[in-house]
Amino acid sequence: MKIVIKGTVQGVGFRPTVYRVATSLGLKGYVLNKGSNVEVGIQEKGKKDEFLNLLMKNLPPLATLDEIEVKDDPISGYKDFKIIMSTEGEKTSVTPVDTAICEECVKELFDEDNRRYLYPFINCISCGARFSVILNVPYDRANTSMRDFMMCEHCLAEYTTPLDRRFHAQTISCPRCGPKYTLYGRKGEVLDERNPIETCARLVDEGALAIAKSWGGMHLICTFDQVNRLRKLRGRASKPFAVMFRDLNAIEKYLELDEQEEKLLTSAHRPIVLLDERTLSNDLLAISPGLGTIGAYLPYSGLHHVLFHYLNSEGIIMTSANIPGEPMVLRNEDAFTLNADYFLLHNRRIVNRVDDSVVRCYEGKTFFLRRSRGFVPTSLKIPYEGMIVSMGAGENVTSSISKGGNLYTTQYIGNTYHYPTVEYLASSTEQLMRLLGLTMADVDAIGVDLHPRYPTRRYGKQLSEEFGIELVEVQHHWAHAASLLLDRGINEVVALALDGTGYGVDGKAWGGEILNSNYYSFERVGSLEEIPLVGGEKAIKDPRRLVFAIFSLLRRDTHTAQFVNEQEAKILEKLLKKAPKTSSFGRVLDALSCYLGICQRMTYDGEPAMKLERYLAEGKRRYEFETFVKTVDRKIVMTLPLFDQLAEYRIDTEKDKADIAYSFVYALVKEMVEIAADTCRTSDITAIGITGGVSYDVPIVRMAEALVKEKGLRFLTHDKIPNGDGGISVGQNAVVGHLRTKS
Ligand SMILES: [Zn+2]
Ligand SMILES: [Zn+2]
Repeated sequence: MKIVIKGTVQGVGFRPTVYRVATSLGLKGYVLNKGSNVEVGIQEKGKKDEFLNLLMKNLPPLATLDEIEVKDDPISGYKDFKIIMSTEGEKTSVTPVDTAICEECVKELFDEDNRRYLYPFINCISCGARFSVILNVPYDRANTSMRDFMMCEHCLAEYTTPLDRRFHAQTISCPRCGPKYTLYGRKGEVLDERNPIETCARLVDEGALAIAKSWGGMHLICTFDQVNRLRKLRGRASKPFAVMFRDLNAIEKYLELDEQEEKLLTSAHRPIVLLDERTLSNDLLAISPGLGTIGAYLPYSGLHHVLFHYLNSEGIIMTSANIPGEPMVLRNEDAFTLNADYFLLHNRRIVNRVDDSVVRCYEGKTFFLRRSRGFVPTSLKIPYEGMIVSMGAGENVTSSISKGGNLYTTQYIGNTYHYPTVEYLASSTEQLMRLLGLTMADVDAIGVDLHPRYPTRRYGKQLSEEFGIELVEVQHHWAHAASLLLDRGINEVVALALDGTGYGVDGKAWGGEILNSNYYSFERVGSLEEIPLVGGEKAIKDPRRLVFAIFSLLRRDTHTAQFVNEQEAKILEKLLKKAPKTSSFGRVLDALSCYLGICQRMTYDGEPAMKLERYLAEGKRRYEFETFVKTVDRKIVMTLPLFDQLAEYRIDTEKDKADIAYSFVYALVKEMVEIAADTCRTSDITAIGITGGVSYDVPIVRMAEALVKEKGLRFLTHDKIPNGDGGISVGQNAVVGHLRTKS
């Protein structure tokens, strides 16, 4: 009989496991990769249950099964059990993810007698680079960038020995036959081929900025005390950098760590986890100025383990190496344009770029700030059929593809206002389709954002016209709400969709929305009052303009004078009359942050609101703010009266700032929850959820959760799909998929 096993079953040591189980039972037959499934043939029909039971107990750690199909299809003529080479077949699922080097491999890596002692490309059947090296399915060496390296006889012996840890490990290699690191200088001259990692570690300890090529990209690395040089080099005035630490002990010296965070940090996914700083006066302060959190992670590739073996430092700054605004560099020759001191590069091609994933923990849930390495391209189950491609929004873009009841999302792409990023979106979408065995001819519909100027929308429209595919527009905050529905497996929610900005159905900039939503429709039951963006986008970079606009409308000239001089005021006043307006929650936070003197200039996306977060985390409800709601076609929570009250309070200390900030935001959230709860009552909905970029702000989520629970309603946050715009393509896909199923 034949058994077809579907799911993440390739590149995870599935065939060797089947082989071991089958031979231990004395079965005759075969196992092979067919497309992206695994097919097992067993001659002894009566032993099927015994075989499957034993297999289930011995599944490789990275395998996930979606379906097991048993066909009563007799086979004969097998004298033993064997692994057969792959054949082209139905492609239903994709490759496994890049997986941190396992403990067994780490042990070998530091065993002086092992032939892979300190060999940075060490890996086995259950660990190593996967997605970053795969060109096509099925997952065989010939379809990966390891095809450029011929196995030596030792590796071949391991590869063909059924009981070996590297039996059929497609990326197997060793110092004799595998890829190699070389250390280069600024002009591309070779500095060290014998001990490149050791030399690089010494130079970094001494204060050098180096670029280190990894599996799916390159990192700029340096010690903590070189942060200002790094900032100058990258043109990043105060944007935080991630830190890779030697081990958990090193992390705990600097940062707070709970059980969930520890589990994520040490998981095979190895994401960057945002952790709270233990004290505010330590070496890390300049790495993440004014935030109180650091993105920390642990070594995941062999290179990282070997680097720390030689480094004296307990941790190093480790940030994606790219030209600002563009995707991470992939090719060795491009690395040299980045102006580092040294370049630690290897000679294996990166096929698929994957940035490090970034997460934050909240009460057992995982907020994905960036879902990429270690998580892509795992799929999500979806309750609709059809082949839909969705393109995301403008920033933090991903695209998503549905096929056969599963949803696949690309790695983190970035900000598509830069052309190379749009190209990256196109190539990643095409690559994911290739891995799924799809072409544009298979696509039923394309989902895009409403925003007329988003490059992602232009890209979707272009494909739709070229291939004659239906184009469906999905409003931005509805897509956020739908991504939350899918994330939590429910069908309706009253969503607090809070973010910086998204294009509304009325053509205005939304961002502080209360949406009664399901997959088929949504109703905007409430929003924040609109405030003017003086000079449009400029008001986002310069939050003083928000403060100016607010206090001008409140006729509090003495307040505006604190933020802009007379000359500026004259110009801004003229601009105020024709300024576009926004109901964005993020802009209110920006204005508050600016008014309180916490952040008056945005140097990176979300900075004023992010810096306010630390104050919200420490603040208490010590001030009263009265809220007002105006009812028109929806309920509008008035924000200007809150600023009017704010102007009456004296602010002397940091504690005053924290308590004022907390009390102000609390009043706003409380009123929004009131409206959402009223909507639940009238429409028989039992859950209020929070989504959008603001929902990464843990103090705000905490406030909302407490307020929703007081109402006796369920409170929902994200867990698997990014809260922010990285989840938009998922929400678009779900909406388009459901609308199509209905019609
Ligand atoms: Zn391993
Ligand atoms: Zn070898």
